[in-house]
Amino acid sequence: MSEDSAADLKKKLRQMGYSDKTAEEILKWYTPMFHKRMSFVKGIYVLIISVNKNITIRVGALRNITFKKGLYAYVGSAQNGIDKRLMRHFQGAKRKFWHVDYFLANTHTKALKAFYKEAEKHEECAVAREFRKKGFAVKKFGCSDCRCESHLFQFDHYGLLEDLCLKCGLIPYHLASESLHSETSEA
Ligand SMILES: [Zn+2]
Repeated sequence: MSEDSAADLKKKLRQMGYSDKTAEEILKWYTPMFHKRMSFVKGIYVLIISVNKNITIRVGALRNITFKKGLYAYVGSAQNGIDKRLMRHFQGAKRKFWHVDYFLANTHTKALKAFYKEAEKHEECAVAREFRKKGFAVKKFGCSDCRCESHLFQFDHYGLLEDLCLKCGLIPYHLASESLHSETSEA
């Protein structure tokens, strides 16, 4: 966990009425436990990305692609742990490896939220096919190792995106700080 998200978590705990000392104690045991649990979840995910103006980005071997301002959904698979992969997307990758790393490195793009599902890699393309039916495909993006048209789709409405995720059996992914908040509120 980065220092930033640990600080957010501490801030949230203080807003919930915990003293600094207690918040630090909770952070000590909670953060590693949460990450240990999520790092075992292998699955597929949909990352919702916003683009705040029309931009042209050089996307690795795909060369220059123009992205219109709007909302995008990226369908991916993380068989080595969802948590690790999503943290990479939300915090920025040090080395660009996937097409989405190039996309997210631009200052006008932002990973907003994610949905996930415990699943084998082959389900990734089945989800991409569902998204293709309702969204506009950014050709060849994120599908170097499969036969899909794309794994990145542009959408006009957030509601449609959320409905599609739920229809495909994906549930909202909560960052560590959000998860702590909701679990504590329910207790
Ligand atoms: Zn595919």
